[in-house]
Amino acid sequence: MPQSSAPTILRVAVPTPVHGYFDYLPAPDEADIPAIGARVRVPFGRRQVVGVVIGHGDASSVPSHRLRPIGATLDTAPLLNTPLLNLLTWAADYYQHPLGEVVAAALPVTLRQGKPAEARGIEYCTLTEAGRRTDPATLTRAPRQAALLCLLRDAKEDLALERLREQQDTDPRQSLKALVDKGLVRIYARPCLTPADTPPAPPPELNAAQQQAVDAIAATLGGFTCHLLEGVTGSGKTEVYLQLIRQVLASGRQCLVLVPEIALTPQLLGRFRARLDTPIAVLHSGLGDGERHCAWLCARGGEAGVVIGTRSAVFAPWARPGLIIVDEEHDPSLKQQDGFRYHARDLAVMRAHREQVPVVLGSATPALESLANVERGQYRHLSLPGRAGGASAPRLKLLDVRSQFMDEGLSVPLLDRMQQHLEDDGQVLLFLNRRGYAPALICHECGWVADCHRCDARMTWHAGVRRLRCHHCGHESGVPDQCPDCGRPLAGRGQGTERVEQALRRHFPAWPVVRIDRDSTRRKGALASALEGVRSGRHRILVGTQMLAKGHDFPNVTLAAILEADQGLFSADFRAVERLAQTIVQVAGRAGRGTRPGEVLIQTHHPEHPLLLTLLGAGYGAFARAALAERREARLPPYAALALLRAEATAAEAPRLFLEGARHALESDTPRGVQAWGPAPAPMERKAGRYRAHLLLQAGRRQDLQKALAVWLPGLPRLPGARKVRWSVDVDPVDLQ
Ligand code: ADP
Ligand code: ZN
Ligand code: ZN
Repeated sequence: MPQSSAPTILRVAVPTPVHGYFDYLPAPDEADIPAIGARVRVPFGRRQVVGVVIGHGDASSVPSHRLRPIGATLDTAPLLNTPLLNLLTWAADYYQHPLGEVVAAALPVTLRQGKPAEARGIEYCTLTEAGRRTDPATLTRAPRQAALLCLLRDAKEDLALERLREQQDTDPRQSLKALVDKGLVRIYARPCLTPADTPPAPPPELNAAQQQAVDAIAATLGGFTCHLLEGVTGSGKTEVYLQLIRQVLASGRQCLVLVPEIALTPQLLGRFRARLDTPIAVLHSGLGDGERHCAWLCARGGEAGVVIGTRSAVFAPWARPGLIIVDEEHDPSLKQQDGFRYHARDLAVMRAHREQVPVVLGSATPALESLANVERGQYRHLSLPGRAGGASAPRLKLLDVRSQFMDEGLSVPLLDRMQQHLEDDGQVLLFLNRRGYAPALICHECGWVADCHRCDARMTWHAGVRRLRCHHCGHESGVPDQCPDCGRPLAGRGQGTERVEQALRRHFPAWPVVRIDRDSTRRKGALASALEGVRSGRHRILVGTQMLAKGHDFPNVTLAAILEADQGLFSADFRAVERLAQTIVQVAGRAGRGTRPGEVLIQTHHPEHPLLLTLLGAGYGAFARAALAERREARLPPYAALALLRAEATAAEAPRLFLEGARHALESDTPRGVQAWGPAPAPMERKAGRYRAHLLLQAGRRQDLQKALAVWLPGLPRLPGARKVRWSVDVDPVDLQ
């Protein structure tokens, strides 16, 4: 039947692994066309799914008899505004990821499911007066109700209902209802955001460098500029953020703050809450769905003056754009490593540009990418050279451990210095990026090693829980009593944090030791209590992994040591040296933050390594210049753009065959300025039972790489062998594993 007028076409981003958008007709029973940015329920295959309208059109390339109408419009006003939609469309293109999945990644799960975009508060439960008086032991015939009553009684504060559901093995709804019916428990809704209950604490007076930074950034409010704020740990970067945020809030605008990990930095959030006179919306993966829903909508509605979150918060909506801050901008966790592989820092800069607000990237150890952007004149460099509050910079020293006697990874000179600092009332921090007791369990007689049968990797021995665990695939098993081959006793080789902790207890029985890593802090509240014990001085020796190096303020740590620097020096990954330098500086930043000077010791077998010497002798800036010169020479990022095509399969040859086909397809187009390397086996070829291979694309100019990818990738699913592998592309990969 001929149409009297051209139908209005709705272009909808649908969450599915297919690239691009899908065309639909408006719903016949709805008077209004859904706005761009509104959610719609649409038929997709045999399912009904929630998509987002990303455009209106007059015509479709789909024949009109095959166009289907949408089912219903879910939002009367756009949920995502145009600048944000544009950013998402751009990101889908740039990272070569299906648009529908990119748009879905920007929404909380509740909204993805089609729940109304209303912040209705969060439901909590609390004991009534009668509940408080009831002895749980009297509920003998209802053990679940008794358990709930105990839980509520022991909790320090009221519990959010969805948290309660997480903590219980069985769904507590029925028992809860019974308790409510008996009048022992009350359920009530709290608003999503609670305003600060105390007036904000007064800010300290800024030092000259801080003031200069604040003034320089404030002068750019209202337009786009990217500032790189480089300042050693403790130099007062956070104070600069806080004062800028106050100015932005005073002008009625909002701030978006990205941090690598919120759970690890509870102090930061506490400081923001204490100092800012605005509700703060927090977005991170540890939230319940309802909390996330609320926080997201309060950001969008503008009720929250500050939105603070981990990488996906770069897509948080806001009503009145003011300023974006990315703290610890060098941190690799800002890069999403699976699915939609975006870099939150780079997207933050792109977003600030589109929304015409300034962005501040802060770090003690800026990424080489960011320093190169300063060099190119694209970012403005601001520095805070000294420590705020009068603390002096720590002294860094290499400890040459070649042919030294080592007791569980601890050299005698290190033990001596520890003794000294402990006797002088200091705290000592030891950094080792390997958890567990020993990274390998071996037989001294016959050489048997406990390998993971699913990976090219050793099992890590966790002595405390008596388990072998593979840190790459999560596989677990019991610890054999003896060598399965020859029956002799087995022994751990090498040290993890657990083993070092044990050695420390033996060496320093008088001083309490605390271990901080993912194993020791698994239990809820364990990390907070460990950190509290460090600050109060109850723990005197701290041993831990990366978790310990991040953002914490331990004023009384006077000695910090890196037990093993060598791994980073000779790794196949070209970024390993940069990471090592960043870790050294971050760990050093933990020492001597108070009034006493700190000392930092680095155990190494390579005390003559030129980059290490540059770092220690001349600082991170000089190190970065030297490392950048090496990157330029080797035509590596930031002086080249990379994309990594990964393939994996249970059949050993399949990934290589697919990638060879992919390489062939690329070269038949002879893309200008793009070179392919590989296919090559991944550094760990077999992981979780699958064989993995890589094809690396390198280009001198980003545009060339983008052009080549756009032509090449759409053809890959049709290559022979494509269905025998799982493949993915990673644009600007951070990790070449
Ligand atoms: P960074 O974020 O660079 O690690 P912080 O902002 O956390 O540094 O500051 C380190 C410490 O110095 C904090 O305890 C902070 O309260 C204090 N501080 C920062 N700026 C000042 C200042 N201008 N005057 C006094 N103390 C300050
Ligand atoms: Zn043996
Ligand atoms: Zn494994």
